Amino acid sequence: MTTSVRIPLMAANWKMHLSIAEGVAFIAKLHELLGNPQDREVLIAPPFTHLWPLREPMAAAGFSLAAQNCHWETQGAFTGEVSLTMIAETGCRYVIVGHSERRHIFGESDAWIGRKTAAALSRGVVPIVCIGEKIEEREAGLTEEVLRRQLTAGLEGLRVDTPEKLVIAYEPVWAIGTGRTATPGQAQDAHAFVRGWLAQRFDKAVANGIRILYGGSVKPDNVDDLMAQPDIDGALVGGASLQADSFARIVQYKKSGKSP
Ligand code: PEP
Repeated sequence: MTTSVRIPLMAANWKMHLSIAEGVAFIAKLHELLGNPQDREVLIAPPFTHLWPLREPMAAAGFSLAAQNCHWETQGAFTGEVSLTMIAETGCRYVIVGHSERRHIFGESDAWIGRKTAAALSRGVVPIVCIGEKIEEREAGLTEEVLRRQLTAGLEGLRVDTPEKLVIAYEPVWAIGTGRTATPGQAQDAHAFVRGWLAQRFDKAVANGIRILYGGSVKPDNVDDLMAQPDIDGALVGGASLQADSFARIVQYKKSGKSP
């Protein structure tokens, strides 16, 4: 059974920022600012050490918890790694996979990202698979080729029968943490390409229900125009998600004609 209703997903990626105490205070303030929004999902991906202590405040506020990374094995001699079984135990519904900082700072390959995605799906944790081109790739007209390659490897051999099981985040590398945002038109073109690829890879109904987030310097002053695009179903926010009032404004984007 598939549905094409896509509940907007507004996601905060805290990266390696905020203490546990600051995280608890953030959640309380965000909850106070937002109440219990019924028409959009609010997600926070804090550092690993924060997952367990933030679990209850997050659940009480009605927010979804995500890990920022994972290992594909269940257990073993992988010093410094955290498995999806461990992540699921902390109450996470989601895991970010293949963030550009993992790809470019830590050298994660497309193949590794594919293994992580497959492992997340098999353990019932929803992968948020990040893809995106570098500036030189965009300038060389290779954006779609890069996205196709990353999607093919990242979703290798997977079966996705219901759209709720997968989220894609289009994050052009040149827009992450740079203050430079894709124009709404550039983002929409990339999202439409991704949805078309998903329709071929799975089927049209599943592709129509999969949420595709945009990430890359999303701020209170550009979120409305981005969210007005028909294939943008949410945002993955780094820098502007570190203050509750700024992230609250992003979550409360103005619909400008697009109803969730
Ligand atoms: C991110 O970390 O995924 C991100 C998009 O960061 P920023 O919003 O700071 O560009």
